[in-house]
Amino acid sequence: MQLADKVKVKQTLSNLVRHKLDMARYRSILAFVLVILATVLVSCGSPPVAKGPVYSTAQLEQIQRYSTDIQTLRDRMEELSPLITAEQWNDVGSFIHGPLGELRVRMARLARSLEPKAQPAAQTAAKEVFEHLIAIDEAAQARDSAKAVRNYGEALRDFEAFFQLIPS
Ligand code: ZN
Repeated sequence: MQLADKVKVKQTLSNLVRHKLDMARYRSILAFVLVILATVLVSCGSPPVAKGPVYSTAQLEQIQRYSTDIQTLRDRMEELSPLITAEQWNDVGSFIHGPLGELRVRMARLARSLEPKAQPAAQTAAKEVFEHLIAIDEAAQARDSAKAVRNYGEALRDFEAFFQLIPS
């Protein structure tokens, strides 16, 4: 090592020592600031959000009540099948407007009582079921068996999709 290099190394070392002393002082100040900051944050900060279950017991009970009503209407959908097969179109129309008339409102209400994440899919499925029922009603007026049968099957499939989103 050349003399010039040795001097350089010495200077670097002494700089480092000085720097370390500065750092030590800096660290103690920093620690002090952090303690104050932490105290301030704890006193003004909002409490941490509790990650509990998605639904409360009361919500689950309400969802179950709504769901049971809709399941009953879903089961009554099966009464439509023989009416469509027998081409009793007046009865098909009456059944959709009568017993199934409340279906849309009830499904929409249940969809709204779900957690926000599940709501769009539930609203979509509810709307689909309703649209297929309208199509069956149109088919009944046009005496179109194929359209009625197709939409009947699709309504049942969309019912399934809807019930998939309901917590059990
Ligand atoms: Zn559909």
